[in-house]
Amino acid sequence: MSDDLRRAVQKVLPGVRADLEALIRIPSVSADPAAAEDLRRCAELTAQLFRAGAAQEVEILDDVPGGRPVVLARCPAPPGRPTVLLYAHYDVQPAGDPALWSSRPFEPRESGGRLYGRGSADDKAGIATHLAALRAHDGRPPVGVVVIVEGEEEIGSPTLGAFLDRHRDRLAADVIVLADSENIDVGVPSFTTTLRGMANCVVEVRTLAESVHSGTYGGAAPDALTTLCRLLATLHDEDGHVMVDGLVTGRPPRTGYPAERFRAEAGVLDGVRLLGSGGIPERVWTGPAATVLAIDAPAVSGAANALTASARAKVSLRIAPGDDAVRARAALARHLSDHAPWGAQVEVTEAEIAQPYAVDTRGPAFDAARRAYRRAFDADVVDLGGGGAIPFVAEFAAAYPEAAVLITSPGGDPAARAHSTDENLHLADFERACLAEALLLAELADWSSRAQEQLSRYARSGT
Ligand SMILES: [Zn+2]
Repeated sequence: MSDDLRRAVQKVLPGVRADLEALIRIPSVSADPAAAEDLRRCAELTAQLFRAGAAQEVEILDDVPGGRPVVLARCPAPPGRPTVLLYAHYDVQPAGDPALWSSRPFEPRESGGRLYGRGSADDKAGIATHLAALRAHDGRPPVGVVVIVEGEEEIGSPTLGAFLDRHRDRLAADVIVLADSENIDVGVPSFTTTLRGMANCVVEVRTLAESVHSGTYGGAAPDALTTLCRLLATLHDEDGHVMVDGLVTGRPPRTGYPAERFRAEAGVLDGVRLLGSGGIPERVWTGPAATVLAIDAPAVSGAANALTASARAKVSLRIAPGDDAVRARAALARHLSDHAPWGAQVEVTEAEIAQPYAVDTRGPAFDAARRAYRRAFDADVVDLGGGGAIPFVAEFAAAYPEAAVLITSPGGDPAARAHSTDENLHLADFERACLAEALLLAELADWSSRAQEQLSRYARSGT
């Protein structure tokens, strides 16, 4: 079975590669209101590609107010077999200044075993992986498949929850494959199993009725900006540990992430120390982080010699899997209210939250997935954390609490430069990801028929 599928994937890959390039040529930037027509074209092309030997029923739905067109493709489940939902998104990040790219962002170009272009990895490769897996099964996989390709992931999937509500029954699945993450390294299949959440607050500090002369009053009257800086400094201790009380720290996966590699990837400058302590995974995947995102204060150019009367900052927590975003935001608000120096007046406004997420990685669906990816990559699957929230993951998890959720990579690696200039896809890993997904569909059919056999054996023996 495995060899047949390997050959079948090899056979469909050239066509899928051409389809991926056609998708990259459409600048489907969801953040750009002027690109609405490109988004529609990209949805239509996606639908057309699934009609070509991948799925039996394909449609475009555009029935949620304010939403982008969503492509649904379906292969009905053979009797007694589970249904697998395959997710990807066809929208992309803006390309930014094309002059900063080595070649035109929306013109695919192969170099050094990588395919360059906006969306090549994130996440048009996800669409292509699903196409390859389904075409390798001749559009008749041994399990039921529902494909959903949305067009607003890069702006936070604002209407996906409403879409899932409306179409819950049509999308119901036993296993959900979200092909929109990265492998930890080339050749190492990786499942993202935890995601941090977020809790933001805006804090305003007031010390004076109005801005006054810094010569006349400075020395006794506190200015609001210094006061705010002292307040913000209480978020960490000397070593950079987060000092907000009541935040959770989760258990990190046993995945190596050397500090030197982290420094290089983050671009930390020479001599600058890393915050916190312990391994990098517990600091960026399963521990809390506090960051000052922005400050409203007088600009340096043209600044008056005056004591600032008020100043405000936006503060953001990244919170660990196992924490609760509402509770964490309240803890941050309390900390900011309680720590203002010099009796300054403080007003805290609670802002955005995103819940953290941890996948339950036990159970037969995960075992089947690990087998499939190990076979395709000839390497064991590693578990990764995600430092940032992915809104659509929480939406799927909330809509289908019983389903096993797999967050996979369609071939992207840390050099894929998703969201950045020169985004690219590692082509050999993309091919392995296509094979892995084709094998996964077969493994899940196998697992379910074994489970069924067992059940009927029990039924016969009366136990
Ligand atoms: Zn993405």
